[in-house]
Amino acid sequence: MSTPTFVQGAKKLLIGGQWVEPGSGQYIDAINPATGERLCQIARGDAPDVDRAVAAARRAFEGPWSRFTAHERRKLLLRVHDVILDNFDELALIETLDMGAPLARTRGYKEWLSQLLQFYASQTGAGTVTASPLSIAPNFTALKHLMPVGVVGGIIPWNGPLMGLWWIYGPALATGCTAVLKPAEDASLSSLRVSELMMEAGVPDGVINVVTGYGKDVGEALAGHMGVDRVAFTGSVGTAQAIVRASAGNLKRLQLELGGKSPDIVFADADLDKAVPGASMGVFTNTGQVCVAGTRILVQRAVHDEFAQRMVAFAKTIKIGDGREPGTQIGPLISQRQLERVMHYVDIGGKEAELVHGGRRLGGELTNGFFVEPTVFANVRNNMTIAQEEIFGPVASVIPFDSAEDALQLANDTPYGLAGGVWTRDLSTAHKVSQGIRSGTVWVNCYGVIDPAVGFGGTKMSGYGWKGGKEHVESFLYPKATYINLD
Ligand code: NAD
Repeated sequence: MSTPTFVQGAKKLLIGGQWVEPGSGQYIDAINPATGERLCQIARGDAPDVDRAVAAARRAFEGPWSRFTAHERRKLLLRVHDVILDNFDELALIETLDMGAPLARTRGYKEWLSQLLQFYASQTGAGTVTASPLSIAPNFTALKHLMPVGVVGGIIPWNGPLMGLWWIYGPALATGCTAVLKPAEDASLSSLRVSELMMEAGVPDGVINVVTGYGKDVGEALAGHMGVDRVAFTGSVGTAQAIVRASAGNLKRLQLELGGKSPDIVFADADLDKAVPGASMGVFTNTGQVCVAGTRILVQRAVHDEFAQRMVAFAKTIKIGDGREPGTQIGPLISQRQLERVMHYVDIGGKEAELVHGGRRLGGELTNGFFVEPTVFANVRNNMTIAQEEIFGPVASVIPFDSAEDALQLANDTPYGLAGGVWTRDLSTAHKVSQGIRSGTVWVNCYGVIDPAVGFGGTKMSGYGWKGGKEHVESFLYPKATYINLD
C-alpha cells in the first residue's frame, strides 16, 4: 500500500483560501505511531497566524458567504459530501498513518460520514424566519430569525480527527458561520487534506481555515481571541478549564466535550455472548483512546468471575498491529507520551487491583511503535485510581456490584458524566438504570452507537453542549427578534 503523495514535504497553513508559511517559519514532525518514523512535517503556527486566520474568517463571514442562501449552502455541503467520499480511501489511509487506528476502523466510517454530511446538508434551513402576531398588542407582528454566531474556533484532539472535524465544519457550513480549525499537533494530516478537498469542492476562501501547531501557541490564541465568537473544544478537562478562562474577554460561546470514566453495567441476566464482546470493545476500540469508552465495567457479582474470564479470552483474540495490516483490530497509542501515561496507570493498577490480562508494551516487530496489550483488571473497587482517572488507553476495570441500586451508586460516583451502558434482558432494569446514570449518553445492549441526527454530549465534568442533532446546529445560531408595527 503506497503512501499518499499528500503525506510528504512540509504542510502549510490554510488561511483565506491560500496555503501559507507559518510566521515562525518552523515545522513539527508528523510521526507514524505504528513505526515511530517521520511521515512529513506540519507548520508550527502561532498567535500572529491565528490573527490572520481569524481576520480571513471574519472577512468571509461578512462577505459573499453571508449572502449564500440555505439552498446554496445545502448544494455546497452535498458537493463536499461527494468529493470527500470519492477520496475516502486516501483520507482513511492518511488517518491510519498519522494516528494509528486500523484501516478497518478508518475506512469503516465512510457510510457514517456520508450520513453525517447529509444530515448537516438537511439542516441549512435551520435559520428560517418565523413570524407571529403579538399577543400583547394588535397590528404588531414579530419576526424571529436564527442568525449565525460568526467565527467559530474548533480545537480538536488526535483520537479521530477525520471524524471529529465534522462536528465543526458540518454545522458551520450548514448555518453560514466560518471556522478556524486547530487540529492536535499529534494528528493534523487528515484535517489538512480534508480542508484541501473542501476548497476543491468550492468552499469559498476564508470560510474554513486551518492553523496547525501546539495548544499553548495556537489553541490559547484562538480561545482568547476577541474576533472569535464561539469555541468548540474536544479534549481534556484541564485544557477546557484554561479555555473557559481565556474565553472571558469577549464572553465567547463554548461547547466542551471532555473526558469520561464511563460505567458499562452488566447485569447477571444479560446475554453474555453479546455483553462480553460489546463491553470489551467499548473499552479497547481505538486502543482505548475514545472519550465515551466504557472503562468501568460494573458486573453483577454472580457473573463477575465468568465475565472477567470470558473478557480475557476475548482480549486474547484481538489482533494488535500496524493499522495497515489486514485484520488489525487495534493499533498503537498515539505517542510515546501517551504510552508512558498508560503504563504509569497499569503500574498503579498492578498495585491496587488484580491484573488478569495484558499490561505489557509490545515488542518484537512492534518495538518502534507505541503498542500496549489490551489490559483487564478484575475485582477493582470504584475508589481506586484506575477506576477514577481517565487513562485514555486500552485498560478496563471490572468492578463487582450486588444490586441495581449499588450499580447506580457506583456508576455515578465519578466527576465525569459523558456516557454509560446497560446490559440486561429485563426491560424494567434497562429503563430504570439507563435513566439513573448521570450522563449525556447511555447505550442499552450495545455500546458506542452515534447517529448524527440524534447526537451525543456530556454533563458534570465531561462538559456541555451537544454534538449532532438539531441542538448542535442551533448552537451555531443565535435568536433575534424584530418587532414590527403594522399601522
Ligand atoms: P488536550 O486537551 O491537551 O488537547 C486537545 C486539543 O487542545 C489539542 O488540539 C491541543 O493542542 C489543544 N490545546 C492544548 N492546550 C491548549 C490550551 N491551553 N488552549 C487551547 N487549546 C489547547 O488533550 P491531549 O493532550 O491531546 O490528551 C490529554 C488527555 O485528554 C487524554 O489523555 C484524555 O484524557 C483527554 N482527551 C480526551 C479526548 C476526548 O475525545 N474527550 C480526546 C483526546 C484527549
